[in-house]
Amino acid sequence: MPELPEVETFRRYLDATSLHQRITGVEVRDAYVLKRVSARELARRLKGRRFENSHRHGKHLFVRAGDELWLRLHFGMTGSLEYLNHDEVAPKTARVIFRFEDNGRLAFDDQRKFGEIELTEDVDEFLQRRRLGPDALEISLSQFKAIVRERRGTVKAILLNQQLIAGIGNLYADEILFRARMHPATEATRLSDKNLRRLFRAMRYVLEKAIALKTDFNRLPKSWLLTHRGKGGKCPRCGRVLKSAAIGGRTSWFCAHCQKRK
Ligand SMILES: [Zn+2]
Repeated sequence: MPELPEVETFRRYLDATSLHQRITGVEVRDAYVLKRVSARELARRLKGRRFENSHRHGKHLFVRAGDELWLRLHFGMTGSLEYLNHDEVAPKTARVIFRFEDNGRLAFDDQRKFGEIELTEDVDEFLQRRRLGPDALEISLSQFKAIVRERRGTVKAILLNQQLIAGIGNLYADEILFRARMHPATEATRLSDKNLRRLFRAMRYVLEKAIALKTDFNRLPKSWLLTHRGKGGKCPRCGRVLKSAAIGGRTSWFCAHCQKRK
């Protein structure tokens, strides 16, 4: 499931392939991913415009298409972007394809169709409507402390709550907690100043490192939990078998030895 680092990687990919070209058409192959906009309206409003720049907030990608018009993309479970040269065939699961005047195309591919495409005039209005919290890479340590320590609940649930901090999903939340050596079921209100600082640093490190590696799982450090999580997986730090438990409504993987419950 694309989380902040994947969406940031898509953003950079879109910037590198699809900006400044006049849009000549929008082909909607499956309108299921369209939210609050019809296929006809999407094409009508984008045709003749250009994608000018982009902005990411949490797991949402906003692409500016002229004055007061933004395309919003959310990648759901399986969404991704693929730029196609004129002779390349779009993937079977491409749901929406943006065509440019140089015959290049940008495909929004989404096998399971939990993704979302919408037009919005105002990014801030959208963020308020969804009540999204600040982006995980935009908040300061003091903001982070205020958000986490004043909430009842487990630290895992708080990291996952998009209305508190936007961008972190199940995989990276576990990775952040592993790096901070914190049990996912730790009560947030019990975290000391020192622990909060450690958690904040782990969050920044994990997200930034994943972006720097373009979220290529084969290149992620072997010292990370991500490449070991799953049945029979062993802790890359101490070698003990990893445990899983449902925490914050999701399956958490962790090392019961390295991540002691406080
Ligand atoms: Zn361990």
